[in-house]
Amino acid sequence: PVDRLPEIQEARLKLPVLAEEQVIMEAVRENPCVIVCGETGSGKTTQVPQFLYEAGYASESGIIGITEPRRVAAVSMSQRVATEMNLSKRVVSYQIRFEGNVTDETKIKFMTDGVLLKEVQKDFLLQKYSVIIIDEAHERSVYTDILIGLLSRIVPLRNKKGMPMKLLIMSATLRVEDFTDNQKLFRTPPPVVKVEARQFPVSIHFNKRTPLDDYTGEAFHKTCKIHRMLPPGGILVFLTGQAEVHGLCRRLRKAFPFRRSSTTAGEDDDAENAEAMKKFKKSKNKKPVSLPQIDLDNYSALPVDEGDEDREAGIDDEEDGGSDLDIGDDPDNAEEKADPSNPLYVLPLYSLLAPEQQAKVFRAPPPGTRLCVVATNVAETSLTIPGIKYVVDCGRVKKRFYDRVTGVSSFKVTWTSQASANQRAGRAGRTEPGHCYRLYSSAVFGDFSLFSEAEITRRPVEDLVLQMKDLNIDKVVNFPFPTSPSMEALMAAEQLLISLGALKEPPHTGRVKDMEKARLSCPITPLGRAMASFPVAPRYAKMLALGKQQDCLPYVIALVAAMTVREIFEDLNRPAGSEDENSKLVQRRARIAQMKRLWAGHGASLLLGDLMVMLGAVGACEFSGCTPKFCEENGLRYKAMVEIRKLRGQLTNAVNTVCPDVRLFVDPKMAPPNENQIFCLRQIVLAGLGDHLARRVQVEDLLDPKWKNGYKTCLMDDPVFIHPSSALFKTLPDFVVYHEILETTKMYMKGVSAAEAE
Ligand code: ADP
Ligand code: MG
Repeated sequence: PVDRLPEIQEARLKLPVLAEEQVIMEAVRENPCVIVCGETGSGKTTQVPQFLYEAGYASESGIIGITEPRRVAAVSMSQRVATEMNLSKRVVSYQIRFEGNVTDETKIKFMTDGVLLKEVQKDFLLQKYSVIIIDEAHERSVYTDILIGLLSRIVPLRNKKGMPMKLLIMSATLRVEDFTDNQKLFRTPPPVVKVEARQFPVSIHFNKRTPLDDYTGEAFHKTCKIHRMLPPGGILVFLTGQAEVHGLCRRLRKAFPFRRSSTTAGEDDDAENAEAMKKFKKSKNKKPVSLPQIDLDNYSALPVDEGDEDREAGIDDEEDGGSDLDIGDDPDNAEEKADPSNPLYVLPLYSLLAPEQQAKVFRAPPPGTRLCVVATNVAETSLTIPGIKYVVDCGRVKKRFYDRVTGVSSFKVTWTSQASANQRAGRAGRTEPGHCYRLYSSAVFGDFSLFSEAEITRRPVEDLVLQMKDLNIDKVVNFPFPTSPSMEALMAAEQLLISLGALKEPPHTGRVKDMEKARLSCPITPLGRAMASFPVAPRYAKMLALGKQQDCLPYVIALVAAMTVREIFEDLNRPAGSEDENSKLVQRRARIAQMKRLWAGHGASLLLGDLMVMLGAVGACEFSGCTPKFCEENGLRYKAMVEIRKLRGQLTNAVNTVCPDVRLFVDPKMAPPNENQIFCLRQIVLAGLGDHLARRVQVEDLLDPKWKNGYKTCLMDDPVFIHPSSALFKTLPDFVVYHEILETTKMYMKGVSAAEAE
């Protein structure tokens, strides 16, 4: 029996999902798989595990497992459910990639989908669990999709073996045909239980104009206006990433600082808010500064994070705001003066935020303040923040994109889908009618795609194929994907994995058809298993797997980190605005060319070419403490260097987990590789990038002048070239390996090293 506090019980009863408890539990009793759909905030994540617990699904024979695509949700939901059930976190626990609090007593376990996938690798039947709940299935993350495919097989197997298991799939949208109308996945379509949400109407206000890049500035002005002009109610702002979130929080805190009363000071020690307050107090002691009149229509003139706090009260607020809730889309009058009479309680929310910081969004804001949460996508469906009446939506999302040539991924900000934008708007109507301010025009909205595509169709799949082979699923084509990747993508993946030695090459038989079939069902090799355990793409995993030779691992890790982060050098070929700027640019280019020559080294290291330059840059930058100043002076992108640093730490941990005997650590004073190591590194790079080999066109073959100084690759008919910025531009070795090909004025190879034998 669960002993809940009265106030918790009262809050639970208000959740729409409570009304469906009987229906859901009956469906679960009678079916191996059940789908539960319900609006965000209807109580799926927090309540369904409790229903199952109370119905006795957590017993000696197994526990309840819930997967989340996001770490923040796994942590925060486990804490919430523990609180609601009045149980210790030893009983309701979580596990995410590098941390968790699971014990022998754990009965309800929240985890990321990646964690459960790893568990399938250890115990295919998932015997620990009596129920698995796949949450947020609408997000269609790759791991979630694969888990659903796997569980569609695991559940019947468990039933056959007399160890019954249940599967629940939970989704915030009704778009579940990929799971229900999919014979390959579930022969008998699982029943769908709909939870009717109590949703209040949300009025949508579009901008007339769409800001092209400064949407955070626009979000700032809109939030200021809402706070100044509109009746009480929380504000939720959607931005795309952690840095943006912090930037906006800072600006808003400066604009609307709040003085902590003695009752709230103790229980809440939000350092940033306190800081803003301190600064504000200081600024009040100063004599008021009179600032030059600014053009209120031109905010680009305002320095972004400076000077907003002690600007004098200038122009009055809106003429007669408040009645018309469509507050327009131009930032007029929303000047950035500090207004402590009108405090705003500003909280950030994003995936990697510390759990105690995350938990704050669920508490009531201090009396007399308005809550304003500045969030990334996590607030779209994973977490429901109480009391939100206004949503400000930038309409964008940060997504991973994959380079078709290299498979290297990067994060880019793009427009979101109509479905996502509507989810975001819905956050404003949980407790009363609300308003959503879209920082883009209705025409732009009309051009959004209707739904976000399943992630699995947008990226190369060699890493998934490798993971599946590691699960001994040899015929990946036959796998019951909710949405299958294209045959072309699967073939390309299998081919690459064979060439990397991760899969066994099929025996040569005469018939083309048989060969093709065999190519799609190759078993994994021992090397493939080692590679599968590293958290990077198979090419790089291969390099890491080979790195143990000659103590090369620290170098391989630094190289893999540098190659995975795009463009470590600043672009100095931009046109200069003035004579003065031009001469500075010329100077800097000269300085960087000099540094590159220095980092390229001499003798054997020259053969490593651009990779040696990367290693040298990473080493030197780390040696200097990775400061913005060092980067600036040496033409390195500071952000890239910080990313590389984080990745080195992560990869070092991963390698230590796989082979504890190497006892690696990130050495900030890494010495340059010696001659043997350089030789070894070249072999290792060639092993990972074997299909990125190019051969210099010989003079005697040179019939067409377009091939002058050109290289021939196996992928392209046209010549490719070594870029003038490359360390090997003048050397022109006979064979080179490249990291990627970029097309600008010509097809240029980047990250080039020499491949021929000495
Ligand atoms: P769903 O999964 O259907 O989106 P949830 O179960 O996440 O819904 O949320 C149900 C309710 O529980 C929401 O109103 C939400 O605000 C509340 N809630 C969730 N986590 C917390 C928490 N840590 N503290 C307070 N309330 C919470
Ligand atoms: Mg949920």
